[in-house]
Amino acid sequence: MTLRVGVIGTGAIGQDHIRRITNTLSGAKIVAVADVNVEHAHAVVKNEKIDANIYGNGHDLIQAAEVDAVLVTAWGPAHEEFVVASIKAGKPVFCEKPLAPTADACLRIVEAEVTHGKQLVQVGYMRRYDEGYRALKKVVDSGKIGEPLMVHCAHRAPSVSNFSGDMAITDAFVHEIDVLRWLLNDDYVTAQVILPRNTRLAGKGLQDPHIVLLETKKGIRIDTEIFVNCQYGYDIQCQIVGETGTANLPEPSSVLLRSEAKLSTEILTDWKERFIESYDVELQEWIHSTVKGEMNGPSAWDGYVQAVTADACVKAKQTGQIVPISLPDRPAFYDKNQFYEFSVVR
Ligand code: NAP
Repeated sequence: MTLRVGVIGTGAIGQDHIRRITNTLSGAKIVAVADVNVEHAHAVVKNEKIDANIYGNGHDLIQAAEVDAVLVTAWGPAHEEFVVASIKAGKPVFCEKPLAPTADACLRIVEAEVTHGKQLVQVGYMRRYDEGYRALKKVVDSGKIGEPLMVHCAHRAPSVSNFSGDMAITDAFVHEIDVLRWLLNDDYVTAQVILPRNTRLAGKGLQDPHIVLLETKKGIRIDTEIFVNCQYGYDIQCQIVGETGTANLPEPSSVLLRSEAKLSTEILTDWKERFIESYDVELQEWIHSTVKGEMNGPSAWDGYVQAVTADACVKAKQTGQIVPISLPDRPAFYDKNQFYEFSVVR
């Protein structure tokens, strides 16, 4: 069966996902697109040479009979309405991160899904699909380094032109928030943010770098340097220190070059290149599980936890205090994979 996907939001990542579903992945095709800017949606359909219906309103796309499943790649503030509408229509929905820009909005999505009674929502946290992070998780889960005690991370980008305010936390660090609790199988209890000397190369008024300290329920201490104007490359580091050993996130593969009296290896500069395969794996697995009637990726609950944690980090930055992170109990609904009936008749 081919999964017929409708895409809401034909901007940068919407186009990337349309291209990968059309040209790279198997088991799905794009049958509809929607964008507030209909002319833009027309141009994308033409450029990508796809046979898709075009809608000026995401809600019409969700209701369309030809759409089995929905991909939400509109800007963040529009996510909630489209995800909730997809749930109400009983259609599986993959929503790019963040699930929604506020914790309250994420909780409303969780409540809508629990009320609906079937798990339909996956959030676009692609690092869980990265080969390196998956290898790291395998080592941690195997017990080879004993119980994890500390984690040291760095999230570095060469420069950012579109960041303002707290986006280093709310746009960049959110990926660590998601992947680290998945790696450690643990939740956070406190956040603290330390502001080192500012680089002169950040945009006007922008703090850069940050050091974020998180503490988990089990007492694991995590430090992450977020440095988004580091100049030299896109460099994601993660080292887990356990009772009997340490485990590092593997470097992306690159030729080790001996030339001109130097030993060198390339560092990527573009986040898209660093995680390009993860996006493919993420969407391919979503397609396969959706067709099987399963939902296995980052859930709406994970999206909510990310939002609560990011809020605590922002508060910690603003106050200079150690901020407690308190979450309600996770609904039992999210304890196990929920299966839904994929009841498309055709
Ligand atoms: P973008 O280039 O600005 O694209 C967003 C698109 O959605 C634009 O075409 C926009 O139209 C359209 N849009 C806005 N409101 C809409 C609405 N109500 N209905 C239909 N379409 C609407 O942004 P992007 O970079 O693709 O990012 C989109 C989302 O993906 C964001 O949530 C972002 O955080 C996420 N993202 C995730 C990753 C990742 O690593 N997982 C990477 C990049 C982006 P206009 O331009 O006319 O407003």
